[in-house]
Amino acid sequence: MSKITENILKLTEIISKINSSCEIVAASKTRSVEEIAEAYGTGKISAFGENRAQELCEKYPSLPNVSWDFIGRLQLNKVKYVVGKTRLIHSLDSLPLAEEIEKQSAKFGVVTDVLIEINADKEQSKGGIYLEETESFLEKLSVFSHIRTCGMMAVTERNADINKVKDTFDKIYVKFDGLKTEVFRYLSMGMSDNYIAAVEAGANIIRPGRVIFGERNYGETRRGEDS
Ligand SMILES: *Cc1c(COP(=O)(O)O)cnc(C)c1O
Repeated sequence: MSKITENILKLTEIISKINSSCEIVAASKTRSVEEIAEAYGTGKISAFGENRAQELCEKYPSLPNVSWDFIGRLQLNKVKYVVGKTRLIHSLDSLPLAEEIEKQSAKFGVVTDVLIEINADKEQSKGGIYLEETESFLEKLSVFSHIRTCGMMAVTERNADINKVKDTFDKIYVKFDGLKTEVFRYLSMGMSDNYIAAVEAGANIIRPGRVIFGERNYGETRRGEDS
């Protein structure tokens, strides 16, 4: 059994003890088509999460059976390359981005499923909607007939203090729990550093990368600033 398969089976075993219906979105930025194919072969990965439109477009034709999520910051001029390829865009964080997703989705004749990216700690360096703005943002999204808002997503800093991260996860869960419906049903949080805490806090999608594919130095491109 290869390392990737072994890692995924171990991960699945850990999270299924907490929430057996939690989905794994494998963060696959910088990972090869072969690595992704192997992870896909385990049958345990709901989708692969890419951060860059260009990288998604490059991998997309090679893996026709795979579902793709977009998890990085999405620039307005890249929306047209992503719409129609994704199961879920996790990183909707502004009205202009919603307007562009709506426009491109209408053009392609699709309805795009999205999550609202939350900036629970109001970090200036990050995008995302503040928790208390979630309802008003949802209301603004309700006019878009080609967007279906399926839940919330949060990104945490690498190496952040785990207790602080847990507080953040709890805060987000409370908001999610109050808004949850049959459609608004996903809470995407938790990466390699903190996926156990995320599932314990109520996440039903986690986005691990390194614990599946192994360590890699992402440098400055970790968050996938797509330029
Ligand atoms: C890279 C990335 C992840 C996974 O990070 P790891 O530390 O490798 O688990 C999850 N979410 C987003 C948005 C990412 O960019």
